[in-house]
Amino acid sequence: MNYKTDVLIIGSGIAGLFAALKISDYAEVILITKKDKTESNTNYAQGGIASVIDINDSFEKHIEDTLIAGAGLCHREAVEMMVKEGPERIKDLIGIGTKFTERNGKFDLVKEGGHSHSRILHAKDLTGQEIERALINSVNLKSNILILENFTAIDFLTEHNLKKNKNSDIENKNCYGVYALNSQTNEVIKIESKATLLASGGLGQVYLHTTNPKIATGDGFAMAYRAGVKIANMEFIQFHPTSLYGSSSLPEFESRSFLISEAVRGFGGILRTKDGNTFMEKYDSRKELAPRDIVARAIDNELKKRGDEFIYLDITFKNSSEIIERFPNIYNTCKRIGIDITKEFIPVVPSAHYACGGVLVDKDAKTSLNGLYACGEVTMTGVHGANRLASNSLLEAIVYSHKAAKSIKEFIKENKNDFLEIPDWDDSGTLTHDEKILVTHTIKEVKHTMWDYVGIVRSKQRLERAKTRVSNLYKENESLYKKTKIYNDILEARNLIACAHMIIKCAEMRKESRGLHYIIDYPESDPDYLSDTIIQNQKF
Ligand SMILES: Cc1cc2nc3c(=O)[nH]c(=O)nc-3n(C[C@H](O)[C@H](O)[C@H](O)COP(=O)(O)OP(=O)(O)OC[C@H]3O[C@@H](n4cnc5c(N)ncnc54)[C@H](O)[C@@H]3O)c2cc1C
Repeated sequence: MNYKTDVLIIGSGIAGLFAALKISDYAEVILITKKDKTESNTNYAQGGIASVIDINDSFEKHIEDTLIAGAGLCHREAVEMMVKEGPERIKDLIGIGTKFTERNGKFDLVKEGGHSHSRILHAKDLTGQEIERALINSVNLKSNILILENFTAIDFLTEHNLKKNKNSDIENKNCYGVYALNSQTNEVIKIESKATLLASGGLGQVYLHTTNPKIATGDGFAMAYRAGVKIANMEFIQFHPTSLYGSSSLPEFESRSFLISEAVRGFGGILRTKDGNTFMEKYDSRKELAPRDIVARAIDNELKKRGDEFIYLDITFKNSSEIIERFPNIYNTCKRIGIDITKEFIPVVPSAHYACGGVLVDKDAKTSLNGLYACGEVTMTGVHGANRLASNSLLEAIVYSHKAAKSIKEFIKENKNDFLEIPDWDDSGTLTHDEKILVTHTIKEVKHTMWDYVGIVRSKQRLERAKTRVSNLYKENESLYKKTKIYNDILEARNLIACAHMIIKCAEMRKESRGLHYIIDYPESDPDYLSDTIIQNQKF
């Protein structure tokens, strides 16, 4: 069954749901999501959402902290907009029933790495889940939002798909919706829309170790790239310094690592090598509260130097009931693998966590393709620069969702075109794939390649190796894709390969080390190279 709507939203994380609520005030919305509606990076966010709430804090300080973390690459206007509009958007979240933790009648604002003031609102250590709960409750009350679960967007509908242009090389100028796979029936449908909002989240699954759930296969980045949309700064992948070593023994952490939030270091947590010694003082005067890239590289260096598989995070010296009260989720999860964090050190390793780069958008959340808007982790807005400040991503998502909702309102008012004649999905001549293991292996190979050669520390030689391997995987997978009836894994393999390609491409373009991109051949930042790496559908 095909659909037509005013606005199509891809993704049910904070960015997609927040925008859906705002857009439902003036238009009909279809929101598609890959699994059930709660499954998203948002749902696993622990630490919180940053905003200037305390009277002793200031916009200037939050802006300054964000710019410092971004290592010279943040777009100042974007940062200013995010920080200054933040408190209003937080009010929106509270208005729909989000319950942030309070202490003595005030919000319990906490501090995280890189912040000069306590400004993180949280809901204990389950902030994302609480926000997602409030958003879904509100969206469920809106009769003009239709949520389609288990629908995976495959590709955007653009000029390329118009019947008369089918075999031509016409440039894609407009977005008319998407083809999407119903993963329960394996049917591919067409959803046509006057405007499309991409809110499909991150790409952590391109790496072997990641805090991101299984859905985070970078589909939105890849779809945009294939449609010729401008993408920027893909080399800046944030590795979270502390994910729980050994969490994969728990069934729900088979494909993602359990995060030990930044807030644990904000709470006073100390990093120690396996023999119990501290080491952060050797790397940065802010020690455990240095920005994530510095902490992740310090841990990576200690692990490589010592040949250890993990380091420890210690909060045993803090009051036990305070630990359990503040971090119930972390306490319970560690307990399930036999670690009592009030008495024992927590074994941790870095994991791929967040993509600072993505689909290039302007201050109104517009992409370079007419009719396509984007917000949330899939975008490059300019606010994170070369490194994201902790707890700024949920904030960025709501500020830009709000912007997208406003821009789309204007867009659909001015563009009253009828729906165009776009053909249905044609899979004639394709076969059901009877060697699915080949695709499973491809996915594993991409993850290993990226972890081994395009991780926390890079080199020209490692990037060259990764490029050759990813290019081979691309050729093999594309030839299979063309003759196979679509199913989820083959789509995800295709998207992971495209994301790997984009990360390598941008990493090769940046001939310096800056923020999250550290390359041993160019260990210093180049003051003359203060620009974004922008790519647009280049050859694999
Ligand atoms: C463990 C963890 C902890 C974090 N902690 C914090 C924190 O404390 N503070 C903070 O600011 N940030 C945190 N982050 C980052 C933050 O959670 C994310 O950046 C943010 O939630 C992204 O929101 P989003 O709406 O853009 O994407 P998501 O929340 O990931 O939502 C994406 C949605 O798109 C859907 N989707 C994807 N592909 C398709 C497709 N092809 N078709 C249809 N649907 C699709 C997914 O199913 C999902 O519903 C954390 C991230 C993780 C993983």
